[in-house]
Amino acid sequence: MQPLIQAIMTYTGITLALSKGRIFEETLPLLAAAGITPTENPESSRKLIIGTNRADVRLIIVRASDVPTYVQYGAADLGIAGKDVLNEHGGNGLYQPLDLQIACCRMMVAVREGYDYAGTVKQGARIRVATKYVNAAREHFAGKGVHIDLIKLYGSMELAPLVGLSDVIVDLVSTGGTLKANGLVAVEHISDISSRLIVNQAALKLKRSLIQPVIDGFSSAVGTRGAA
Ligand code: ATP
Ligand code: MG
Repeated sequence: MQPLIQAIMTYTGITLALSKGRIFEETLPLLAAAGITPTENPESSRKLIIGTNRADVRLIIVRASDVPTYVQYGAADLGIAGKDVLNEHGGNGLYQPLDLQIACCRMMVAVREGYDYAGTVKQGARIRVATKYVNAAREHFAGKGVHIDLIKLYGSMELAPLVGLSDVIVDLVSTGGTLKANGLVAVEHISDISSRLIVNQAALKLKRSLIQPVIDGFSSAVGTRGAA
């Protein structure tokens, strides 16, 4: 085996799974509080395994929706994932010790401007819902007793009502700028979303001496920020 591959596969430290973009950016201060500094920036580096100032801590960069899968199977010991992603994954085998209060947004129902959502729901008509968050959408509309046809999408949900693919969308909203730019309006708030630290339960038992200080460092950083 090549030395690099061997070093990667026989790694004995801990591995934290993160996604690029807002989660990585907002995790940097938490990592710093735990004494961890990445040696590279995933936005500019093409590497998917990133070292840190600590020989016993490394990061892997994966799609946001793949983070729970890596942690569930123990390919990563820890990860950071949005509640939206965790709800769709189901959370099997994951210990979720901390709400990190990062990547905050709201899961909303949105429609084309002028669409009579309240009236349609009141009539008991079936509505077509396009979303990436099928579990969340199913739970929400079942709770209201509204019958829906679910259309699974992987992104750019805002387009669906504009071209007649769906009547409504279920999507994440922070400023509302994207909805507005596309002539959509939010009509219902489903839940508040933030990201959680997730831990592989077996790894926590086997590598507690390495994992617990990271949980504690993150926890104190979240607490300090909450108090500020
Ligand atoms: P991908 O871009 O790989 O398809 P994604 O859109 O879920 O996946 P990101 O855009 O990096 O990935 O979002 C990561 C997490 O950040 C989401 O799972 C969600 O919890 C949160 N998030 C998504 N959109 C917003 C937003 N507009 N504002 C704040 N947080 C958000
Ligand atoms: Mg995105």
